[in-house]
Amino acid sequence: MRRNDQLEKGGVEFVLNCNVGEDITFDELQAKHDAILIATGVYKSRELDAPGVGAEGIVRAIDYLTASNRKSFGDEVPEFDAGLLDAENKRVVVIGGGDTAMDCVRTAIRQGAESVKCLYRRDKANMPGSQREVQNAEEEGVEFVWLSAPKGFTGDEVEGVMVQKMRLGAPDATGRQVPELIEGSDYVEGADLVIKALGFEPEDLPKLWGVDGLEVTRWGTVKADFKTHATNVPGVYAAGDIVRGASLVVWAIRDGREAADAILDQFAGAAQVAAE
Ligand SMILES: Cc1cc2nc3c(=O)[nH]c(=O)nc-3n(C[C@H](O)[C@H](O)[C@H](O)COP(=O)(O)OP(=O)(O)OC[C@H]3O[C@@H](n4cnc5c(N)ncnc54)[C@H](O)[C@@H]3O)c2cc1C
Repeated sequence: MRRNDQLEKGGVEFVLNCNVGEDITFDELQAKHDAILIATGVYKSRELDAPGVGAEGIVRAIDYLTASNRKSFGDEVPEFDAGLLDAENKRVVVIGGGDTAMDCVRTAIRQGAESVKCLYRRDKANMPGSQREVQNAEEEGVEFVWLSAPKGFTGDEVEGVMVQKMRLGAPDATGRQVPELIEGSDYVEGADLVIKALGFEPEDLPKLWGVDGLEVTRWGTVKADFKTHATNVPGVYAAGDIVRGASLVVWAIRDGREAADAILDQFAGAAQVAAE
């Protein structure tokens, strides 16, 4: 909040509760501004396709974490109060091995879960999340179940995860070893709450915002110049996860600074043309 105050004093106007594409169109934004920076991140959760995945008690990481954050801020969160998004006294299974999964396991422990297990289909050395955070999570009581993937779920209200054990096979084109199923190794891991933390993908911004002309990559991320962060639409820049795909805070900060420089250059150029 202090940082927000500083930015406001510096002349930034925050327009809160404004969903671009719903509360204002991209065309309207363009008409009102000389430059636009798209920095909307990636928030479309990757989904699992496995029998029983629709059972009550199987939730998306972003919903679980958002509810927990909002509760900490003192907001009313009916799904948390009703128990659906609260891990207290539950056997929690988190599926995934990235930073989001780490946030989920540690949040669940602090909410007073009976047990917290993290299923990841590769081994410890090959997980994308921070190794230090794994160690911290283990110290807090989280159990990591390596080389394990969900095959399905039992119960209408979730009762268990059918776990399939894996081994690491030959490397793929990127050099990363591909997990392979070990036939006949299935077992059921008891669970009252399953949190899916399988990563995020970009929203289809050209479609959502009705800007057909905005170029995206084959992964759906916005195409932008590596240095200036300019997109193919004049005056429109893009930075952070919406360009890189799910990435890290440090990269988003660096992109933002570079894009700000490029936007200032654009204005300086326009001012010079006007003066001539
Ligand atoms: C659960 C989780 C855990 C993470 N853990 C780590 C970590 O430990 N370390 C690390 O370095 N990185 C972590 N990351 C990644 C990191 O948060 C991102 O790389 C970084 O925040 C990207 O910055 P950004 O500015 O591109 O987008 P974001 O920080 O995601 O900001 C995008 C903003 O745009 C808003 N927005 C989206 N669509 C619209 C719209 N249509 N209209 C208006 N506003 C919109 C969103 O509400 C959001 O406020 C984590 C991400 C998640 C989701």
